[in-house]
Amino acid sequence: MARYHIETYGCTSNRGESQAIERALRDGGHYPVPDPARADVAILNTCTVVEKTERNMLRRAEELDDQTPADLVITGCMALAQGEAFREAGIDAEILHWDDVPEYVRNGECPTTTPDTDVLMDAVTGILPIARGCLSDCSYCITKQATGTIDSPSIAENVEKARRLLEAGAREIRITGQDTGVYGLDDGDHKLPKLLRRVCELPGEFRVRVGMANPKGVHGMREELAAVFAEHDELYNFLHAPVQSGSDDVLDDMRRRHRTPQFVEIVDAFEDRLDYWTLATDFIVGFPTESDADFRASMDLLERVEPEKLNVTRFSKRPGTDAAEMDGLGGTEKKERSKAMTDLKMDVVGTAHEAMVGERRCLLLVEDGTEDSLVGYDEAHRQVAVPGAESMGLALGEFVDVEITGHNTVYALGEPV
Ligand code: SF4
Repeated sequence: MARYHIETYGCTSNRGESQAIERALRDGGHYPVPDPARADVAILNTCTVVEKTERNMLRRAEELDDQTPADLVITGCMALAQGEAFREAGIDAEILHWDDVPEYVRNGECPTTTPDTDVLMDAVTGILPIARGCLSDCSYCITKQATGTIDSPSIAENVEKARRLLEAGAREIRITGQDTGVYGLDDGDHKLPKLLRRVCELPGEFRVRVGMANPKGVHGMREELAAVFAEHDELYNFLHAPVQSGSDDVLDDMRRRHRTPQFVEIVDAFEDRLDYWTLATDFIVGFPTESDADFRASMDLLERVEPEKLNVTRFSKRPGTDAAEMDGLGGTEKKERSKAMTDLKMDVVGTAHEAMVGERRCLLLVEDGTEDSLVGYDEAHRQVAVPGAESMGLALGEFVDVEITGHNTVYALGEPV
């Protein structure tokens, strides 16, 4: 769980980007602190509109670099257009695109929301952490040290929390945990499918997103889980199963509990049951023992499963973890591999978005967008922005049928029909 400090400069669009970053961080159990000296990561979302602004941005970045022991991330327009200026000023910071900031903070680890969290975001989205901890001991993970082994409250307790969220006005429930795929295994049984059925049977019109589930846990219930998704329209047809590598040797060194054939079997089970769904997965590139052949295996796996959503994390050492003690790859090599995979990701994800154009989808509007647009998610939890939505009288929490008219690399665009 990281404490983050975020500062935003510039236009409303930049502020919207910061809101999106914050939403993703809060969703993952991270929380804001006003004082950068108390943060684990400081984020500076920059503007580059005039030269004076640029000087201010450089000065603020230098201050943050000096004043905070935190990792410093610089994003926003100036970071993207003139990232070199920060490096030339000797500022020790990670320069990132807005979309990559949450993943950088998460560092390939699982979210850290706990069952005590009871949150309603933007008055529409309820966060439902169903368990704390995991059954793994990944060699690169620092989260595990804080959360320990899996501890699952009963199905009845979690259903009651879901009911309360709906009564408080939630139209979307996000089920989270370090690893939702092992929920119930401390009691000897996979309980996620049963929990989902019970939540979907609650009264009301709403949708449910299932958060990250590691492949080992999902593999043990893949047929039943895919069947539950097929049975219930309340569930977004969305599976986030982080594979992390396409090489079983690297998975061994990462101490992941699954192997690549199991991951492929999960994808095939969902493919068999669902016509329209989203596979989200994560890869860590540049793990210390990752050879050229291992990296190629990851690229091959990516091409084989074609995830519609993909997080690529460049490996970085976390203090106190076993992976931090391993002799690592050079920064240039990690950077090149990360770029190659990100390029491939753009192709794969771009193709998925392109296939949506001309289709009709039913969105649940859950987030403010830029200007008067609203952002929603369709049946497979694909993100769709609706320009001009507020001027048309639409509001957060409403369902709306749209035709997909275009896309960029992150989201599709929809027009109400
Ligand atoms: S599954 Fe692995 S990465 Fe996730 S919390 Fe457990 S040990 Fe950490």
